[in-house]
Amino acid sequence: MTGHLLDVRNLKKYFPVRSGILQKITGQVKAVDGVTFFLDKGETLGLVGESGCGKSTTGRAVLRLLPVTEGDVFFRGRNLLALSGENLRRARREFQMVFQDPFASLDPRMTVAQLVGEPLEAHGLAATVGERNDKVAAILEEVGLDASYLHRYAFEFSGGQRQRIGIARALVLNPSLVVADEPVSALDVSIQAQVINLLVELREKYGLTYLFIAHDLSVVRHISDRVAVMYLGRIVEMAKTEALFLNPLHPYTQALLSAAPVPEPGKKEQRIVLGGDVPSPLNPPSGCPFHPRCFRVMDRCSRDVPHLQKRGEGHFVSCHLYD
Ligand code: SF4
Repeated sequence: MTGHLLDVRNLKKYFPVRSGILQKITGQVKAVDGVTFFLDKGETLGLVGESGCGKSTTGRAVLRLLPVTEGDVFFRGRNLLALSGENLRRARREFQMVFQDPFASLDPRMTVAQLVGEPLEAHGLAATVGERNDKVAAILEEVGLDASYLHRYAFEFSGGQRQRIGIARALVLNPSLVVADEPVSALDVSIQAQVINLLVELREKYGLTYLFIAHDLSVVRHISDRVAVMYLGRIVEMAKTEALFLNPLHPYTQALLSAAPVPEPGKKEQRIVLGGDVPSPLNPPSGCPFHPRCFRVMDRCSRDVPHLQKRGEGHFVSCHLYD
């Protein structure tokens, strides 16, 4: 039993690699490799990292959109990984996803009423088309769209409007938890702030809880209460947002922040340039997976795997510098 709204423990998602004529399994891509975090009601956790670090896979695995290799996902104290059939279908009302690309995630041949109303119909929450349309019109207004858009098609809308439709679709079932997977990265910078502000407003109004996945640190800083940094399928640092931005402990977090400095009065940032590319999760480096790129690497780093350890109030880091 757990007191958190969401409690993710030692989550692993491995993808088999097949080769040869017989398509035998010859390896595993460890996309998510032992991720642990929690979310309390009304809280937002930002999950950041470079492309391919496993953050989107984590979001999908938490929502059971992908089969999980190992671990536990407790939602309101119930292990989602133990649910199946009707129990899982009913539980799904409580957690929804906002996708990265509003162009790809919405079928352009469906009207707004059909797109946003689909989850209502799937869960038997609209007995008639009229009832569905009334509920869709109400949620459209909540996300800043005119109810008169009901019978228009997704292709008629701008990127920002389509993402608002995507948010309406996620919220129409009145969920508690929303996983937002890079929800603004496909949008113009001028539109990003509007969508982020909308998400903040909706969180306050409905007491929503967000797992907010992004690679843009400034976006994450604006919306998150806490931030978790991922590298090669693992969380390497997790802290309250201001603690992480003002006092990053892990060399990878320090490098990420120096690459996207957020102006602090009187603070002079020095850019840390990381050598090499992100290693393949098919064949991760020994010891600390970050060691081939780390500017503070020590002898033991290629040998010993560091584990996430508490290094301050709510501040966790996985690095031998703090052992
Ligand atoms: Fe760098 Fe070593 Fe810390 Fe890994 S454990 S981040 S290689 S100092």
